[in-house]
Amino acid sequence: MTGRCLCGGVRFEVEGPFEAVTQCHCASCKKLSGGVGTVNGRARSDAIRILEGRDLVRTYQPAEGSAKTFCSVCGSNLFGGGWPESERCSVRLTTLDEAYPQKPSKHLYVRSVAPWETLPDDGAERHDTRSG
Ligand SMILES: [Zn+2]
Ligand SMILES: [Zn+2]
Repeated sequence: MTGRCLCGGVRFEVEGPFEAVTQCHCASCKKLSGGVGTVNGRARSDAIRILEGRDLVRTYQPAEGSAKTFCSVCGSNLFGGGWPESERCSVRLTTLDEAYPQKPSKHLYVRSVAPWETLPDDGAERHDTRSG
């Protein structure tokens, strides 16, 4: 699978399929996404190869939680979960060139669902924080 940021400066490929697909509603994911959160595919960090724009890639380490990786030109969030140091990371499904054909199996951090956000009644597991 291939993906890119909004400006196209960063292009990458990742070996699929993902081990899991989850949607995170935490406050950090809201801040960095500008929306209800992030939808993530779990992958091994070494399954990701940056094809273009390596020099544009930045990683932000918040005080709490794992490092987030983004394009320094357009701000698109690319990966979470401590890529590339961590064994496993999160790939934002929004970055993929072709829509990933699987719905999230879990909603994480539902305690942080905003008043302006409606959780879908999709049968997916719900966890107050991250799943155990
Ligand atoms: Zn970009
Ligand atoms: Zn989150």
